Amino acid sequence: MKCAIHPQLDAVSTCVDCGKGLCSECTDAYEFPICENCNMTRVGEEKGQITKNIVITIVFFIIGFYITMDTSIIGAIWIGYMFAGIPWGWSFLNKITPSIFLFLPLIGWVIYFLIKGLLSLFIGFIALPVKVYQIIRDSKRLQGISETFSNN
Ligand SMILES: [Zn+2]
Ligand SMILES: [Zn+2]
Repeated sequence: MKCAIHPQLDAVSTCVDCGKGLCSECTDAYEFPICENCNMTRVGEEKGQITKNIVITIVFFIIGFYITMDTSIIGAIWIGYMFAGIPWGWSFLNKITPSIFLFLPLIGWVIYFLIKGLLSLFIGFIALPVKVYQIIRDSKRLQGISETFSNN
């Protein structure tokens, strides 16, 4: 098999996503053997995910801010911050929630969601800055990949 990008060179590996042949230079271009096209697709998907996370955070912040706005601006910023943390506290709890809770009757579900929502509020307080850090780190990394591409 020949390299998909350099037809004169022999392939030493195949793209993990599409199975096209890759020469040694193309194989070493990224952390694992992946062709340029598939890598760009993954970068695009990851960018979409990052954008989604930013939108979720902002929407929750605005909800919290909006319902407290009338009392005080400082208070509204705090409540906005706490609300913005809820989805990230929630997703953290999803990772550690034992699956036994999935077999609850309806009233159990209501209590489960109330407790989980409340816990999310507190965990979100820490989970939010962690998430914001991840978003910034991932966008910087993706930006680096895009720049490598435009330099080629
Ligand atoms: Zn590929
Ligand atoms: Zn190649």
